[in-house]
Amino acid sequence: MSENNFYNYKLSDEILKALKILNYKRPTEVQEKVIPSALEMKDLIVKSQTGSGKTAAFAIPICELLEWEENKPQTLVLTPTRELAAQIRDDFTNIGRYKRIKAISVYGKQPFAKQKLELKQKVHVVVGTPGRVLDHIQKDTLNLEKLKFLVIDEADEMLNMGFIEQVESILVELPDNRVTMLFSATIPKDIERLCHKYIKNPLNIEMKTKSLTTEKIQHSIIEVTEEDKEKAIRSLTIVENPDSCIIFCRTQERVEELQKFLKKSGYFSDKLHGGMYQEDRFEVMNDFKSGKFRYLIATDVAARGIDIDNVSLIINYDVPMEKESYVHRTGRTGRAGKSGKAITLVTPYEKKFLKEIEDYIGFEIDIMNLPSDEEVTKSKLEFEAKLKAKPQLKKHKSEQLNKGIMKLYFNGGKKKKIRAVDFVGTIAKIPGVTAEDIGIITIQDNVSYVEILNGKGMDVLKAMKTTTIKGKLLKVHEAIK
Ligand code: AMP
Repeated sequence: MSENNFYNYKLSDEILKALKILNYKRPTEVQEKVIPSALEMKDLIVKSQTGSGKTAAFAIPICELLEWEENKPQTLVLTPTRELAAQIRDDFTNIGRYKRIKAISVYGKQPFAKQKLELKQKVHVVVGTPGRVLDHIQKDTLNLEKLKFLVIDEADEMLNMGFIEQVESILVELPDNRVTMLFSATIPKDIERLCHKYIKNPLNIEMKTKSLTTEKIQHSIIEVTEEDKEKAIRSLTIVENPDSCIIFCRTQERVEELQKFLKKSGYFSDKLHGGMYQEDRFEVMNDFKSGKFRYLIATDVAARGIDIDNVSLIINYDVPMEKESYVHRTGRTGRAGKSGKAITLVTPYEKKFLKEIEDYIGFEIDIMNLPSDEEVTKSKLEFEAKLKAKPQLKKHKSEQLNKGIMKLYFNGGKKKKIRAVDFVGTIAKIPGVTAEDIGIITIQDNVSYVEILNGKGMDVLKAMKTTTIKGKLLKVHEAIK
């Protein structure tokens, strides 16, 4: 490959345009290895670490190969957590923006009926956690007849979380002639067995960089006693003074306690753990992603796969009990080529877990000292200035993509026999508007929603007030949601 960019893969203009706006200039290593084989519809087992760009590695070729005209789901992505499901859905929506790819996510603790309704409409990609996906399959609300691609993401995590039986039950329901891609940071025995049983002649893909964690992360440990941990967090954060930091704790209770302590000490911080309502979890995550507060205190719910730009410091308030979790937690920094720091507080009791982690990641973590009182005093002014300053909100990478989109509401849908192609055909005939300006189309029984891109919403709105679709003049206005 002479020039290392996405043009070499003969992707369609719609996909290339989205990648350009997302500022993906060249493929990452995993993308370079996966995209060509995935485009040839090969079954793949990919060993790759988090933060390597693996979501786009499967989302780019799948978006390219999806047939827009088909109404039934063509892709199923299984993933261990709800946050990750929502994130992968967004990645598909962004990459497939100009191809009008409709991706939805389904997971537990969300109304089943709402998901059922979504699954009845035109959907290209379904991303979900195994339990809820299986539920939809068993209740016949997820049609798998046209399924062409199955992605099993973070397979080792699904194994850890006890999902693997559900994954097997899903696998037997899928059409045989589908393409399967499995992504996992490690391939434990149970995953290997699953691969042999359900994936025919897969191509095994491994990264050149064998190490489980990227070289961009500077790892260190600090030896402390349990009583000293709160003070240690104070000194560390004052001296490091990060723009964005995640502090991981072992349990929900520990998160609550530390959050109370930091709040009392004047920090803008928030918490995330599995005991919170899903809506609250999403809200906290979104606020942290957009930079509304600097310190996120969390259990391992926040560790898996979640992609947040520019987290510069990870602190393990408690040593993770599972070695894999160390890689996931610290992998929240040092992403997409940026550098980061990971500092772990270790009590004498926690030392035994540390040894296991070091064997797993393949190197000894450097010991550092807690900052001295002198250092803390010296850094205090700057730290307090940052604490008082309003954080600068981060631009989300899809912001540019979503700019100039207007969603239109039409008072007609399936019952009036209106299909997505009818909207495309009609709207693309409006002077100055092409099919490329049309985004995702959602058709329900009595209403439809059509996204108009590139700032042409007002033109289309005006024109559609007097233009018929399939001989019918529909009421149209800008959609409220
Ligand atoms: P992932 O491993 O899928 O969680 O991706 C890690 C991060 O890398 C995400 O923020 C992606 O948006 C970003 N990313 C993925 N592919 C590329 C690329 N080719 N160029 C730049 N950033 C990328």
